[in-house]
Amino acid sequence: MSTSTSTDVLIVGAGPVGLVSAIVLTKNGLSVRIVDKESKYAIGMRGAGIHPRTLESYHILGIVRDIQAAGSEFHPVLEHDHEGKPGKTFHMVPKGEPTPDTPYASTLCVPQDAHSAALRSVLQGLGVKIELGKELVRLEQNDAGVTATLNVSGEEEVVNAKYLLGTDGAKGVTRKLAGINFLGESKQDIGMLIGDVEMSGPDRKVWHKFQDARGNWLMAYPRHDSETVFFVASFGPDLDISRTASDHNLLKEWVHSLSKDSSIEVGKTVALGEWRLNVRMADDFRAGRVLLAGDAAHVHAPTAAQGLNSGVMDAMNLCWKLALVCSTRAPQKILDSYMLERGPTIADMLAFTSKLAAAQFNKAGAKDESFRRPPSVQQLGVHCRWSSLVLDEVHGPWDETGRDGAYDGDSSKTRELHAGDRAPDAPGLVRLGSDGISTRLFDIFSAVRHTILVFDESLARTIHAREDARTIVILPRGKDLAEASNSDGLEVYQDVEGYAHAVYGPMPKVVAVRPDGVVGGIVKGLSGLTDYFARLYAA
Ligand SMILES: Cc1cc2nc3c(=O)[nH]c(=O)nc-3n(C[C@H](O)[C@H](O)[C@H](O)COP(=O)(O)OP(=O)(O)OC[C@H]3O[C@@H](n4cnc5c(N)ncnc54)[C@H](O)[C@@H]3O)c2cc1C
Repeated sequence: MSTSTSTDVLIVGAGPVGLVSAIVLTKNGLSVRIVDKESKYAIGMRGAGIHPRTLESYHILGIVRDIQAAGSEFHPVLEHDHEGKPGKTFHMVPKGEPTPDTPYASTLCVPQDAHSAALRSVLQGLGVKIELGKELVRLEQNDAGVTATLNVSGEEEVVNAKYLLGTDGAKGVTRKLAGINFLGESKQDIGMLIGDVEMSGPDRKVWHKFQDARGNWLMAYPRHDSETVFFVASFGPDLDISRTASDHNLLKEWVHSLSKDSSIEVGKTVALGEWRLNVRMADDFRAGRVLLAGDAAHVHAPTAAQGLNSGVMDAMNLCWKLALVCSTRAPQKILDSYMLERGPTIADMLAFTSKLAAAQFNKAGAKDESFRRPPSVQQLGVHCRWSSLVLDEVHGPWDETGRDGAYDGDSSKTRELHAGDRAPDAPGLVRLGSDGISTRLFDIFSAVRHTILVFDESLARTIHAREDARTIVILPRGKDLAEASNSDGLEVYQDVEGYAHAVYGPMPKVVAVRPDGVVGGIVKGLSGLTDYFARLYAA
């Protein structure tokens, strides 16, 4: 047995959510260790739908290009009729046009193994080593920290950490070791055959949906990073999932019978297995110094591609708070806001994906509409207006009933920006003295500190630069920038295109944007801003 040196945060599980958490925490200056029980990285395309809100988070983290480079646009679905003849096409995931406030409008296809590899490479660039073959088996915690025991090839290694973050997936042990319940249900009768299989024959520019009259279907998506591999997902009353996963001849027969095309060559299986419906949510995402994120905290049907995306949102919400606590700038109590802000959204999401799953995994036959996803899956409307951490002096405290619609953005009630909403982008900002070089808010926001946007020149004179934030003054177009040059050394920008004023209006106001890209405060001046930060530090 060896006792290792201590670390700020021990991350258990090097899946995508553990990796993103490690990146955010490291960028925030914390020491992290990240371990995984497996000795090799997982392969397979599965969690490939990466939604706009996740891409926005990656932009703020400074890694969006790394992830985009590993992905491609989604192909449309080509529906084959019961005789195998190609028919109409449709987009399963929403496809939109970028706008000034929403530069990422379409869901990107990034195979989960390629996505994780890109995240690992970012993390390694930050100097963090991923420790494979180390399995969490025990943990104890007290007021000072967590002591975790890892099984390393039969030997025990003890790690002392201020906090332990369990990103060890739906089957992980962190939850159980911390005494957290995983409430919900597993439905063994609802399952799919999923995996990556080499095939030749089907067109590689579309996402095939083969089906028969009995309610069996098979979807085959050509991986953009391979010339032969398709991601296959299949369901139906006549499918014996476990036998088909392990018997290559059965797999071939199944593909031929649904496609009605026996010329399709079914080659090597890269990764193939069974998936069973499991809909569960932890009754808390935290027990003392142990926290959960991603599938370890909530697991749902893959319909709507929410699992990985919502896990990244967990990491963004939690890690800046954890950084404040570890550096003793905020009390541990701020971590209560993690469940407070994420819990209602996840509960809504579970209800939504379960409804979709019931329609799509229907042995009497799935309706076409059940394969089309509404815009809410892009997660741009996710908010936490009810959080006690956010302060909105313009609209007042959010009505408790506003928790309904945490997931779809509650857009029916009001579209005006509130504290707790996603902070929108705005391009066309030209800094005073920059010779006309234009920037955008998403390039100014940061995952390691707050950004304070001061939308009025006279307010700017009352607000001073803070050490824990970057403060910028944004003046309307047409305003003489020279007049504002004495704004106490703050950065002054002109909103040349008027986008920032349009999306953050009405003015005047001061907006505090959190490191997770969420509007934390909408206040009327210095005293409101001071109150907002006092909430964080006194939490
Ligand atoms: C068919 C299918 C399609 C999907 N499509 C999408 C999609 O398009 N978009 C989307 O957002 N999501 C999708 N998902 C869901 C997505 O795959 C998961 O939500 C995602 O993998 C969760 O990531 P994670 O890091 O939380 O957990 P995981 O990926 O499960 O990683 C957990 C890690 O923890 C490790 N571990 C476990 N126990 C221990 C231990 N005791 N000690 C150390 N390490 C441990 C494991 O080895 C693993 O590496 C899909 C899922 C399926 C099944």
